[in-house]
Amino acid sequence: MIKLIIDKKTVEVNPGTTILQAADQIGIHIPRLCYMNLGDFNIENKPGGCRVCVVEVEGRRNLAPACATDCTEGMVVHTHSIRVLNARKTIMQLILSDHPFDCLVCAKSGNCELQDLAQKMGIRDIPYKGEQSTYREDTSPAIIREMDKCIMCRRCEVMCNEVQTVGALSAVNRGFMSVVAPAFEMNLDHSVCTYCGQCVNVCPTGALTEVDHTNQLINDLADPNKTVVVQTAPAVRAALGEAFGMKPGTLVTGKMVTALRELGFNYVFDTDFAADLTIMEEGTELLDRLTKHLNGDKNVKLPILTSCCPAWVKFFEHQFPELKDIPSTARSPQQMFGAIAKSYFAEKLKIDRKKLVVVSIMPCVAKKYECSRTEFSTDGNPDVDYSISTRELAQLIKRANIDFTSLPDQEFDQPLGESTGAGVIFGTTGGVIEAAIRTAYELHTGKTLQKVDFEQLRGMEGIRSAKVDFDGLELNIGIAHGLGNARKLLEEIKEGKSQYHAIEIMACPGGCIGGGGQPYIHGDTSILKARQRAIYAEDAGKTIRKSHENPYIIRLYEEYLGKPLSEKSHHLLHTHYFDRKKEITIE
Ligand code: SF4
Ligand code: SF4
Ligand code: SF4
Repeated sequence: MIKLIIDKKTVEVNPGTTILQAADQIGIHIPRLCYMNLGDFNIENKPGGCRVCVVEVEGRRNLAPACATDCTEGMVVHTHSIRVLNARKTIMQLILSDHPFDCLVCAKSGNCELQDLAQKMGIRDIPYKGEQSTYREDTSPAIIREMDKCIMCRRCEVMCNEVQTVGALSAVNRGFMSVVAPAFEMNLDHSVCTYCGQCVNVCPTGALTEVDHTNQLINDLADPNKTVVVQTAPAVRAALGEAFGMKPGTLVTGKMVTALRELGFNYVFDTDFAADLTIMEEGTELLDRLTKHLNGDKNVKLPILTSCCPAWVKFFEHQFPELKDIPSTARSPQQMFGAIAKSYFAEKLKIDRKKLVVVSIMPCVAKKYECSRTEFSTDGNPDVDYSISTRELAQLIKRANIDFTSLPDQEFDQPLGESTGAGVIFGTTGGVIEAAIRTAYELHTGKTLQKVDFEQLRGMEGIRSAKVDFDGLELNIGIAHGLGNARKLLEEIKEGKSQYHAIEIMACPGGCIGGGGQPYIHGDTSILKARQRAIYAEDAGKTIRKSHENPYIIRLYEEYLGKPLSEKSHHLLHTHYFDRKKEITIE
């Protein structure tokens, strides 16, 4: 261990710990813009790029970047001396001298780390005037890049390339013209980007934000000729309260439903209903493939991979197209909901699907892109018209002057609002496969599960594995969250080394609770754990906790679909995948 003194406090750290990490350990906050804690991913991050974390080290002539300087024995560090404060102020003024003053209209305003830091440092003027770099704006189906606002901290690059291993972003050009961009400065929609939105989550400025659909929604809600239906994903209710100052992990399901009614939606439904439907289809597909495989059918491949995360789907379409027959063909819950709403529900209401607007509230930005995939539309009319993030919903509620924290709890509408505990746990890593196991076990064995909680499938480690006993048949289950972890399991499959029967993959750290559209956590991963606890608490509080026992799902099959994997189910609830390797061509 190494002993040093920071601001008169003694601290002992492991070799390789930086001054900034040591200070964090004893509660001394050193400002930062390029550093982010990637300890949870086992990735070392010592960027030293922005220099706002400079500190004074006794015996050293120059100030040291705390995020890139390792602690040494006997070191004495001053993090807030006058010399340090003056240097930091100059560094911030230089950064701001090449930054547009768009704060009043910037989508990140109020959540911007650069703005926050300038405020804390008391910056009131920018003495350095000169040329400002300008770049064209790039709008994709899910993410907007405004590189004029980029401060070249390169967090997005680290997130995309090292954590997600997607490789969509890298620094291009040199000096004043350098910028983080897709290869050859092409647009994001012409790259391997999965739209996971993790770069948006870590960008300290408004350079990366999600595409905003709130104005379109307001217009639809005001249109008397349209019936507007909303579905809300499970992870939203575990995080929305944070935007209103509530403690992380506070469940706000009932308040969210009330707020959506006050906003003017005609029907407030739940994506959890569609999550139950997903389990009916995916669980049956798992059993079908498993049985055929065990009976020696060489054409049936295992493991089966979950398919409810659109960023994960786009990832394997680009990076592992040779494996595109392995994932389940079940659509995501968002898309299952849309297909059922615009057929079954529209028929019940006796209205044309074009007059029914289906909106989703998602913790996700990839879902915005998923809405635009042409296979999820009929005659050009999308099954889900557009998707709003948790952050956008919070902003809408504030805009409508709704006092969210004082709202009473209300229930979802029926028939597409009823869900089980299994549908709720879709919101966290491990939840989809646990929900599938609850149903597949009972369908396979014909026995009632004595305990529906599969603790061995829960947790936050990036890759987890567990064995589940199906009455004598032992199933090997794999779980990965974060695309870098998914890649490791996919490489094993490619090399024929995978021992798993089924694997759950979610693109975002923690699963959807850590989605690219959730309230910003600014590096505090304890918030993800609090959201995860909230999800399991909602599941535990449900009367029905297995998807196949949802009475409205049973009725949907009786009245409309027939049975899981029926022809109608295939048409409405399943999909196919594309080889996107060939899509990226350099002209
Ligand atoms: S959305 Fe995800 S894949 Fe796309 S650039 Fe950002 S981090 Fe990379
Ligand atoms: S886009 Fe954002 S995260 Fe990426 S380098 Fe620029 S400021 Fe940093
Ligand atoms: S893990 Fe969830 S939030 Fe993240 S991209 Fe996938 S579906 Fe969206």
